[in-house]
Amino acid sequence: MTEQIDVVGHWRDGARWEGSADRFGDVYDPATGAVARRVAFANGDDVDTVVAGAVVAGRAWGETSLTRRTSVMFAFREVLSRRREELAAVITAEHGKVLDDALGEVQRGLEVAEFACGAPHLLKGGFSDGVSGGVDVYSFRQPVGVVAVISPFNFPAMVPLWFVPIAIACGNAVILKPSEKDPSASLLLGEIWAEAGLPPGVFNVVQGDKVAVDALLTHDDVGAVSFVGSTPIARYVYETGTAHGKRVQALGGAKNHMVVLPDADLEGAADAAVSAGFGSAGERCMAISVVVAVDPVGDELVEAIASRMGGLTTGDGREGADMGPLVTGAHRDKVTSYLDAGVRDGARLVVDGRDVEPKGAAGGFWLGPTLFDDVRPGMSVYDDEIFGPVLSVVRAETYDDAVALVNDSPYGNGTAIFTTDGGAARRFQREVTVGMIGVNVPIPVPMAYYSFGGWKASLFGDTRAHGTEGISFFTRQKVVTSRWPDPAERGGVDLGFPRHS
Ligand code: NAD
Repeated sequence: MTEQIDVVGHWRDGARWEGSADRFGDVYDPATGAVARRVAFANGDDVDTVVAGAVVAGRAWGETSLTRRTSVMFAFREVLSRRREELAAVITAEHGKVLDDALGEVQRGLEVAEFACGAPHLLKGGFSDGVSGGVDVYSFRQPVGVVAVISPFNFPAMVPLWFVPIAIACGNAVILKPSEKDPSASLLLGEIWAEAGLPPGVFNVVQGDKVAVDALLTHDDVGAVSFVGSTPIARYVYETGTAHGKRVQALGGAKNHMVVLPDADLEGAADAAVSAGFGSAGERCMAISVVVAVDPVGDELVEAIASRMGGLTTGDGREGADMGPLVTGAHRDKVTSYLDAGVRDGARLVVDGRDVEPKGAAGGFWLGPTLFDDVRPGMSVYDDEIFGPVLSVVRAETYDDAVALVNDSPYGNGTAIFTTDGGAARRFQREVTVGMIGVNVPIPVPMAYYSFGGWKASLFGDTRAHGTEGISFFTRQKVVTSRWPDPAERGGVDLGFPRHS
C-alpha cells in the first residue's frame, strides 16, 4: 500500500480550497529529508478565481466601519497569541528552524498585529480650519483594494505578518502567495483570521511559484504588491508590477557586516557574532554574514568566535538543538559549495561545518556552523549572499576601511558596530549606506511601530514594511478643499488660479 501524502492547497472564501492545479511541489521535513507533503501550484485560472472573490469581499470590508474592523484586529491578536505554539510547530516542521526561534518569529509578527490594532489613530487624516473665507481643507485615507503579499521561505509567519494585519486593518483584501518551500503556516493564518471573525474572502492564500506570482503581478484588479525575497526576484517583481500600474515594495537580499572596533568588548562581540551568524542556520535576511575585525582585534576575535562555535549543537529543531537543518537538500548543497569555493579563493577555513555530528536523522539537510578567516572582496564567499551558517571574517586596518567595505557592498539591509566609543558609533550610523543599524546590537530589526527596510539592492520601491510607512503603502490619500460660504459673502466668477487669502 502506498502512503498517502497530503496536498497543501489554497485558502479562499474563508476555507481551504483545492483549486485546479496540475503542478505540485515537494515540501520536506528538513530534519529527516523526507517529503512530508506536496503543495499545489496555482495556475492563472486559480489566481483569477481568488482575485475575483477578493474584489467583492474587499469592497464590503473597505466599507465596514473602522470600529468593527478594529475589533476584528484585536480578536486576531488574541487568537494568534493563543495559537502561537501550534504555528511555531508548523514552521519548525517545514522550515527546520528550532522551536524557540519559530516562537520568536511568531512573536515579532504578533507585534505587527498589535500595531495594526491602532488603526483608528493611524488612519486619522488632517484638518485645516478656515484656510480662506469659508474654506476648510482635510485629508483622509482609503484602502487600495486588493493587495498581494509574496513571501520568502525563511519567515513563513513573520514576513506575511509584516504586511497582512496592516493591509487588512486599512480595509483591503489580501492575497498571500507564500514560499512553496514551507506553505502550511499560511493556511494556519487563514484559520486564525476566520476564528477572529474576519469575513470570508478578505484574507486569501494562493500557493505556487512564478506562474502564480506573474498572474498576481499582471492582474488588473491587484492594486499593490509587497514582496520579500532574493534581490534578483525582488528587482523582477518591482519592474513587472510597476510596469502593470501597481504600487510595489520589494525587499531583497542582504549581506550584513558587523564591524568590531579595537575598543569593543570582544567577548560580547564574539557572543553576538555567533548568535547572529548561526541563529536560524544563517537563513535570516538580518543575519550577520561578515565580521569586519579592525586591527588589531582579528586574531583574538576569531579565536573567541571559534571557541563558542564548538559548543553549538546542530540537530532536529523539535528536540532542543541550537541550530536546525537547512530548508532543502538543494539549498544545503549550494551553501556547502561555498566552502570549497572559499578555500579555492584563499580564505582560511577555521571551522568546517561539514564535520558536524548532527543530533537528528541521517537524511536531514545538515550543515554545521562554518567560519572563514582572511576573507576578501572578490571571493564568492564574500560577494554572494550565501544564506546559510557561514560566517566570514575580514580584516580591516582602520575604521575608514571598515566603513568602505560596508558602503561598497551592493546590499544595504543591516549592519552593526561593536564599540565602547559613543562618538565612533554616532559617526558610523551617519556614514553607512544601510537602512537598519545596530550599535552593540547584531540584529537590529526595528520594532513594529518603526519601518523595516534596507537601502540599495535590499529594497526596490519607496516605502518600507510596517510602521507608518505600511499604513501609507496600503492606503491612498485624498485631500478635500471645501467651501461652505456664508450666503451673504458669495464671491462671483474669478478665472484666476485659486489663492487662499
Ligand atoms: P526567493 O526570491 O527565491 O523567493 C521569494 C518568493 O518569490 C517566493 O514566494 C517564491 O515562490 C517567489 N519566486 C521565486 N522565484 C520566482 C520567479 N522566478 N518569479 C517570480 N517569483 C518567484 O527567496 P527565498 O529563497 O524564498 O528567501 C530568501 C531570500 O529572501 C534571501 O535573499 C533573503 O535575504 C531574502 N529576504 C529578505 C528580507 C528583507 O527584509 N529584505 C527578509 C527575508 C528574506
